[in-house]
Amino acid sequence: MRLRDLPSVDELVRTSGDPLAVDAARTVLGRAREQIRAGSDPGDLGEQLQAELRAARAPRLRRVLNATGVIVHTNLGRAPLATAALEQVAHAARGYSNLEYDLEAGTRGSRQTHVVELLHRLTGADAGLVVNNNAAAVLLALAALAEGREVLVSRGELIEIGDGFRIPDVLARSGARLREVGTTNRTRAADYEAAAGPDTAVLLRVHQSNFRVVGFTELPSMRELSEVARKHGLVLVDDLGSGALVAVGDEPTARASLAAGADLVCFSGDKLLGGPQAGIVVGRADLVERLRRHPLQRALRADKLTIAALEGTLRLALETPDEVPVLRMLREPAETVRARAERLAALVGGDVEQTVARAGGGALPLAELPSYACAVEEELAQALRVGDPPVVGIVRDGRLLLDCRTLTEDEVDEVAQAIFTCR
Ligand SMILES: *Cc1c(COP(=O)(O)O)cnc(C)c1O
Repeated sequence: MRLRDLPSVDELVRTSGDPLAVDAARTVLGRAREQIRAGSDPGDLGEQLQAELRAARAPRLRRVLNATGVIVHTNLGRAPLATAALEQVAHAARGYSNLEYDLEAGTRGSRQTHVVELLHRLTGADAGLVVNNNAAAVLLALAALAEGREVLVSRGELIEIGDGFRIPDVLARSGARLREVGTTNRTRAADYEAAAGPDTAVLLRVHQSNFRVVGFTELPSMRELSEVARKHGLVLVDDLGSGALVAVGDEPTARASLAAGADLVCFSGDKLLGGPQAGIVVGRADLVERLRRHPLQRALRADKLTIAALEGTLRLALETPDEVPVLRMLREPAETVRARAERLAALVGGDVEQTVARAGGGALPLAELPSYACAVEEELAQALRVGDPPVVGIVRDGRLLLDCRTLTEDEVDEVAQAIFTCR
């Protein structure tokens, strides 16, 4: 085919009543021109137009098979939801719901009531509040409790987590003033004590999340911090980050933090809790109420889909935690993972390799979860990523590793199918 044999855009779309066809035809013709100039044949343009239109209508936010071994993978959407949690979302969102309606009384209710009872059973807290994410929870807590006043934070906890969320910046946006105490590696209760003054409102403890200081280090216990807070009339806020509700490695739980004297504890819904993106604040009812009444609360609150998914996840965490995908993946014995890797390797002719999986999401940065991968040729990496469904693995030492800790049994079959398609 020569350039002048190509149809015009109008000719190519003539029979199509599709409003997207003109743009799609331009793309197809542009590609064809390049191919002709490069000396190759552009092929059937009508077929390509149809393919282009299908691609234009395919969802952009897509399901991905995570073969990286990073369980809470922030770039891959963090926590996959449990089936029961998803069903609850579909159920609550398909029609109307009692989101803010008290069915008993027939009057206006609060969207926050739906998860309070579950949060109480899981953490022992009297009150709780759900907002859009944990960054919002920390911002709201500081704005409501310390605006125009001082917040004490250890220099060892002035952290940055993914994508530029920095504690000093969030604190500044809340309208509170940061007062740094201690040093990077060592902070004592006495440092907080010395810094507390008439203008101090909050003592903020921040989970170090994605890094650890090792060697000559010291941080006061929650119990010691709570004594300082009591003595000086400060509110003790604990930003737990990942929010383990059931025992996961050495991650502090919200229950333990509250029992040791924290007044408010903030954590994410989609890290170790394994639910939807959300920020959860639990603790003293009078303080939670101050957060609820703050004007920012309205801007930061969680929507009904989130609340439904969170309620479903919390119920599982309480009764059958292994039905929460994140918890199951974290706790699954290595031998079970190995069996999946062996099955995948047998299906696609790969090799089983021992690997190390990670919790991800800034939790347990040093924890190495023993895992197994199926290793295949590196050349598949790109093709698998752009396939349907996309598969994301890890390229290492000239091979593509498909870690089976983050794949379900069914997904192993899908990965095998994807590999057959690419080869
Ligand atoms: C992850 C994290 C946050 C932010 O939580 P998001 O839910 O991602 O907004 C805040 N503080 C700490 C300590 C964290 O680890």
